[in-house]
Amino acid sequence: MLLKWLKNPALLTGLTLSALITVHPALADQAKKTSEVLIAELAEDESVEDVENSEPRKSAQVKPAGKASKDSAQKEESPTTDQPDSATVESKKTQKVAPNIDLKEVAPVAESPDQDETQAETSEPEKATNFSLLGSEVRPGTSTRLAWSPNIQIAGLSQPTPVLVVNGVNQGPTLCLTGAVHGDELNGIEIVRRTMYDLNPEKVSGRVVGIPIVNLPGFQQGSRYLPDRRDLNRHFPGSPNGSLADRIAHSLFENVIRKCDMLVDIHTGSQKRTNLPQLRADMNNPDVAALTRGFDRMAVVHSSGSPGMLRTAAVEAGIRTVTMEAGESHRIQEQQIDAGVNSLTSLMEKEGMISRMFVWGDPEPVYYDSNWIRVDHGGILFSEVDLGARVSEGEVLGYVADPITNAQHPIRASSKGRIIGMAVDQVVMAGFAAYHVGTEAEVPGE
Ligand SMILES: [Zn+2]
Repeated sequence: MLLKWLKNPALLTGLTLSALITVHPALADQAKKTSEVLIAELAEDESVEDVENSEPRKSAQVKPAGKASKDSAQKEESPTTDQPDSATVESKKTQKVAPNIDLKEVAPVAESPDQDETQAETSEPEKATNFSLLGSEVRPGTSTRLAWSPNIQIAGLSQPTPVLVVNGVNQGPTLCLTGAVHGDELNGIEIVRRTMYDLNPEKVSGRVVGIPIVNLPGFQQGSRYLPDRRDLNRHFPGSPNGSLADRIAHSLFENVIRKCDMLVDIHTGSQKRTNLPQLRADMNNPDVAALTRGFDRMAVVHSSGSPGMLRTAAVEAGIRTVTMEAGESHRIQEQQIDAGVNSLTSLMEKEGMISRMFVWGDPEPVYYDSNWIRVDHGGILFSEVDLGARVSEGEVLGYVADPITNAQHPIRASSKGRIIGMAVDQVVMAGFAAYHVGTEAEVPGE
């Protein structure tokens, strides 16, 4: 099913252009002048760093006046994004009505980037309000495919990124889903697809916007990074005059992300690490903490978020946002995808956007405080425990074997807990973060 979809050119219109992706020399020069962290200089990826550098979780009783709650209050007072004069880059263009597309049907091949200009249908019933996005008006009770172009390439070679939109028949919040901000993280692509394609706009209250593959150039090259070797998830909310990554981030943030009330940014582990399906959320922010309660059966790990991350920038902008981590990069993992889709379905139900036919009991997320255990020796890592295992303090989690000296170095759990993330067996250097151990924490607000 996925393969069929991946081969579908309408969603991946630019696949054949991958060889032509380039960075204009002037842009590259400008990028060099900025003092940004390139991937070569990054000591760790956000999967580890995000948790290790996090501010400690405050006690559940403390309810700080989070920036997000202030901003979201302001947001509600301001006109809705339905107004044609909403402050987006696209807003000055003539708004066209987006065609109503049954997302369950396989998309036809797009013949040219301008093709959709002529596809507008006018016979759709008017119900609630239109949803203005990316220069189109999406009518209530319809779903469609739009395209986002960061305009960073040679105009004639521009490679629009598909954006799936469901505008429900009734009013409600706007939920956005982003996949493959890191181009090699595949589970999120499928989680977005299944979640979106299961929705019937006639039965949805609110809107769901899904970008299955945010980093299309990275995806085409099987790379986590952008063509300029930058990590897109370190450049939000971006800037219109900065590096390639800044510009892409800015375009996405202004044209799509600011339209969202809630955002779930879907990632996987990196550097051959795998994750139990889990959320990363700033539990010190009451609005974010409340959002996490909608994801049933999910592990929730507190992390205040690093500067430049999409999650951090979106929360700063008053959008309730969590990162979902599911499985490992470069793989499609059915169990992880299932867990992700189920928890997003649960979220939409708890937010009043859909009603589920059946719910098994009233499952709640499980909250964890966590730490990463690093190896002290280089060698070959062999694990003794499985992902999700419950471990006791001092328990041997695995060994690093030195292939030259034949030394075996055990790695032990520093506390009782659950293995919520771990490295797959591989060659490691001293200092590599190998096991992410979570200890259950109190539920926020109780
Ligand atoms: Zn990622």
